[in-house]
Amino acid sequence: MLSEIACRCEAANCSRKLTDGDCMLVFRTEGGERRAYECACGHVTVTVAAPSE
Ligand SMILES: [Zn+2]
Repeated sequence: MLSEIACRCEAANCSRKLTDGDCMLVFRTEGGERRAYECACGHVTVTVAAPSE
């Protein structure tokens, strides 16, 4: 089961909705899965998804 995480660009003058297509990097740490999204404006937003347990 996939969990869709709605996230938006963190740039102050943006707020574009980021989609899976913008995800350019996924990595895991002890804190969970992190995803880096590159917005069309050039800003990179990193999200953290807690383990689904
Ligand atoms: Zn942006």
